[in-house]
Amino acid sequence: GARDGLGAYLTKPESYPSNVVVSHNKDFVVIHDMFPKSTLHLLLLPRDATKTRLHPFEAFEDAEFLDKVRSETRKLRTLAAGELRRKYGKDSAQEQARLAAMDADPPPNALPPGRDWEREVMCGVHAVPSMNHLHVHVVSVDRYSERMKHRKHYNSFATPFFVPIDDFPLAPDDARRQPTREGYLRRDFICWRCGKDFGNRFVDLKKHLEHEFEEWKKL
Ligand code: 5GP
Ligand code: ZN
Repeated sequence: GARDGLGAYLTKPESYPSNVVVSHNKDFVVIHDMFPKSTLHLLLLPRDATKTRLHPFEAFEDAEFLDKVRSETRKLRTLAAGELRRKYGKDSAQEQARLAAMDADPPPNALPPGRDWEREVMCGVHAVPSMNHLHVHVVSVDRYSERMKHRKHYNSFATPFFVPIDDFPLAPDDARRQPTREGYLRRDFICWRCGKDFGNRFVDLKKHLEHEFEEWKKL
């Protein structure tokens, strides 16, 4: 069924072009999300056959497996950060300051560090995944995409419905274990960047997200 669509990447990753499958090894496959909800949206698919059909909360109860996925996610965060630097470095004031310092004659003793793009990447799972095969989202924070078409799309990346990989293992009484799915997804729209509440006005939210994206990339 439609919910099994990620399985094909696990069985034959080598059959896809590099704009679909980013990389693969015996333990993981990394793909571009087909309906990206931000300007950068990757999925990490663990290949362990004993885990791939489990809900992420259950799969990550295995501490050794969690460690493995977490360390692969870290590598992917770094890769995604490099991609953001390539995409937005020319717009970024912090990157410009670093480049200007490198060009100075004589150059200063200490260079400005440039922008920490890793901070601009979120890594985690949905409390109620829609796709059956275990996957970790690696997604830029902008939530700016023409594929962001439905209310639930935004809130699934902007409420506790999105569970960061670094929050695992979850405490036994963690509220996200019993997600009132509709609860999180039906919340008011809150801007991820400035906290402004858009109620249920999706069109206004979308317009605002475009504005925030333009400002965010210039930092
Ligand atoms: P979930 O809500 O299950 O955590 O997220 C599943 C993700 O898989 C969604 O972001 C969706 O856009 C993506 N997706 C769904 N079907 C496909 C597909 O066939 N190929 C790829 N590359 N991504 C998909
Ligand atoms: Zn805002």
